[in-house]
Amino acid sequence: MRELEKRSNLIMAKILLISANTYVYPYPVYPIGMAAISAALKKNNHTVLQYDCLFPNKSLRETIAEFNPNIVGISVRNIDNEDYLAADNHWSCDVVKNLIREIKSVNNIPVFLGGAGFSVVAEKFLDYANADFGIVGAGEKSVQVLVSNILSGENIKENIFSSQGFDSALEPDIDKNLLQKYMRSGGLLGVLTKRGCAYKCGYCSYPSIDGRKFAAFEVKTIVGYIKKLQQEMGVNEIFFTDSVFNDSCGYACDLCREIISQNVKIKFAAYFNPANVSFEDLKLFKEAGLFAVELGTDAACDTTLNALKKTFKFDDVLKFQSMCDDLRLPCSHFIIFGGPDETYGTIQESLDNIKKINNGVVMVFSGVRVHYNTEIYNRALKEGKLTKDTNLLKPYYYFSDKINISKMNDMILQSFKGNRKRIFPPEKGEEMMRTLRGFGYKGLLWDTLIKF
Ligand code: SF4
Repeated sequence: MRELEKRSNLIMAKILLISANTYVYPYPVYPIGMAAISAALKKNNHTVLQYDCLFPNKSLRETIAEFNPNIVGISVRNIDNEDYLAADNHWSCDVVKNLIREIKSVNNIPVFLGGAGFSVVAEKFLDYANADFGIVGAGEKSVQVLVSNILSGENIKENIFSSQGFDSALEPDIDKNLLQKYMRSGGLLGVLTKRGCAYKCGYCSYPSIDGRKFAAFEVKTIVGYIKKLQQEMGVNEIFFTDSVFNDSCGYACDLCREIISQNVKIKFAAYFNPANVSFEDLKLFKEAGLFAVELGTDAACDTTLNALKKTFKFDDVLKFQSMCDDLRLPCSHFIIFGGPDETYGTIQESLDNIKKINNGVVMVFSGVRVHYNTEIYNRALKEGKLTKDTNLLKPYYYFSDKINISKMNDMILQSFKGNRKRIFPPEKGEEMMRTLRGFGYKGLLWDTLIKF
């Protein structure tokens, strides 16, 4: 290993971290995963440089030549955009493969991969991209083990490291200049208040990667971090990127009470589950700064909700929407058509139900992107739609046998005609957001479609 510095008994390395994501729909998302890994490595006295492929200061080749890293880590946010109808599905595997080829052509140094996109299909991604190592799930602790193993020069037996948990006291290493670029482009900074997920949605592999229980950070730590973001970085709007903000344990209520009691004036949006939340809770969240809600509705009638293993009924969605309307809180719904147990009957029932979500924005996807370790993967195997040899690195979408995809899409288009708050196909939303950003709008943007 070249140019390693020794300080006391620690070997220090120069580590280049790269965020590979350049997909900006629905808005540019600051690479918070890379920032978390950077903080963890700096804590162990390594020298870290963060390189963002969306807003690079210079070419990767020049950066490597100047910084001369010993190790490179690449953060992969998504494998693709999960949109069956998109002309370009933003498949990230070739992007990462090309990055690695370029890195190795300058310096043949170890490259490791991590991030949510990598973690859902780790082994296949690693092989495809020709990376040396990978970290699955939260990487703050495992990256220390990986880096010290690389530096020790010993033969590393496993090339994929599973998560060893996270450090709840560690604040992400936010690059102020990079953050300004994201904020100027209309992006929002993500803040995580807990990891893991206690739900079991049929298409989602996140709980198998990040834990099947909610693991929350200290309320005071999060509020202190938000204050710091405001004072030192000028951040006034954030997105709580927890899988579900309104957990059933009441943590979100404690957090909001703390925000109010410390008089922190922050605006935030978050992902919600329509169950487990009372009008009083929602009022408290709004008082603490909640300005918009993204609801993981996923399906629009009880049959398809049940088939996706959602734990609520469509009536819960309507009740939640009505509370949002009463509190003048913009609310959006992500809904998938064509999945398990879909029939023409459920399509029509869902379209009729969506009409009842009067003031909400509804974004619709066609077909369910299948990932390993999910209920829908097992169902697709059982139904003979795919085999154990099917490589899910490339997008594969589950569609019910009882419908014709084009006919279903036509029914959706017909029903949504003339309604700006109904977004289908997803590329229509991308187009709309590009236009709004062109006019200087910032933030979520879908919330500007709602008038109270
Ligand atoms: S879709 Fe969201 S709520 Fe459902 S299991 Fe995944 S992370 Fe949890």
